[in-house]
Amino acid sequence: MTETAFFLSPAALTSLVFGLALLANVGVKLWLATRQIRAVARNRAAVPAEFSQTIALDSHQRAADYTVTKLRFGLLELALSAAVLLGWTLLGGLDALNAALLSVFGPGYPLLQPLALLAAFALINGLIDLPLALYQTFVIEERFGFNKMTLKLWLADLVKSTVVGCVIGLPLAALALWLMQATGSLWWLWTWGAWMAFSLLMMVIYPTVIAPLFNKFQPLQDESLQERVTQLMARCGFAAKGLFVMDGSRRSAHANAYFTGFGAAKRVVFFDTLLAQLTPPEVEAVLAHELGHFKHKHILKRIVGLFAFSLAGLALLGWLSNQPWFYAGLGVTPNLPPQMGGVVPNHALALLLFALVVPVFTFFLSPLMAQLSRKHEFEADAYAASQANAQDLSNALVKLYKDNASTLTPDPLYVRFYYSHPPASERIARMGGKIVPA
Ligand SMILES: [Zn+2]
Repeated sequence: MTETAFFLSPAALTSLVFGLALLANVGVKLWLATRQIRAVARNRAAVPAEFSQTIALDSHQRAADYTVTKLRFGLLELALSAAVLLGWTLLGGLDALNAALLSVFGPGYPLLQPLALLAAFALINGLIDLPLALYQTFVIEERFGFNKMTLKLWLADLVKSTVVGCVIGLPLAALALWLMQATGSLWWLWTWGAWMAFSLLMMVIYPTVIAPLFNKFQPLQDESLQERVTQLMARCGFAAKGLFVMDGSRRSAHANAYFTGFGAAKRVVFFDTLLAQLTPPEVEAVLAHELGHFKHKHILKRIVGLFAFSLAGLALLGWLSNQPWFYAGLGVTPNLPPQMGGVVPNHALALLLFALVVPVFTFFLSPLMAQLSRKHEFEADAYAASQANAQDLSNALVKLYKDNASTLTPDPLYVRFYYSHPPASERIARMGGKIVPA
């Protein structure tokens, strides 16, 4: 017996590392959710002192119940997604799907079989998610009065998004698979270039072509608000193509405002629900906050970060896709290489395995990402306070927290891991605003 017999094979080691990472991932998520549920439940009986003059006990308790209900549902989703992930990988789901499609297509379809594999995978995952999405909208959101969708609208959305997904996704996937086969060992660089070009294109066509398929966008009518907003933008040296109101109330009572597009194609979009809840000075302050994200180049930094992260990811995938243990360790038999008579390459398999497995590991980076995002929120708040009124933004925040039934008593560790926005009280304190009695 040689010494190497005492070591795990690379494939077995891959299975072990993946299994342990998944266990740690689920364990940490479960622990954090449990902490958050406890923190919210513990503080349900009384409104936190600083908000006691502003928020009524019944809306505080509604927020607590909504938060706990969503967290409990999240635990169900967590268990299901871990089971699905194991099903695809170590339990052989992806392997079986690949084998079935190989036998359906027969030999000689080096592009079509992998494309069918990606499409079938997306379809099956979509079907698994469907009951959860239905429950979330028509049971949870409905119970707390947020859902404004009819089943008919929900189905129409589903059909539309599936069609849009096919029209955009299939050619993009075909292009990526083709590049992977045709461009040799640097395929990951070519694929990255194509993907980034596509992402930039989407930033231009999403607001003008795709979003209008789902919502109506009308120019902002309210003249005094228009005046206010135009003055604010002039003050901040900011040009946008237009101010729009979106009929967010068709689907949900949750409120929002955002910018889309870049360069000269930028547009400001207000949800009608936001305009209904806030006074004009508050809307102005919220917009000033959004402008702060632009002034501090947060959006550009995010895009650059995403590009760099994608490049590193694809380079890693380029290497992994040539390692037999990567497939075998994750429950997949790789297709035969050409020198052994194989015709169907392994790129689609590698891509799917990578997409399945990477989030298990990158989850542990979420405190860093959340920290960065919260830092950006403070910077945008400071900008808003300098260009508009800090008290108006504070009032708007309290209203939005109340109307969105967000909890005012989160667990600090849960905040560190997940919160992209700092808790309302911290933001208001940092701006020097006050929590004014209702
Ligand atoms: Zn923000």
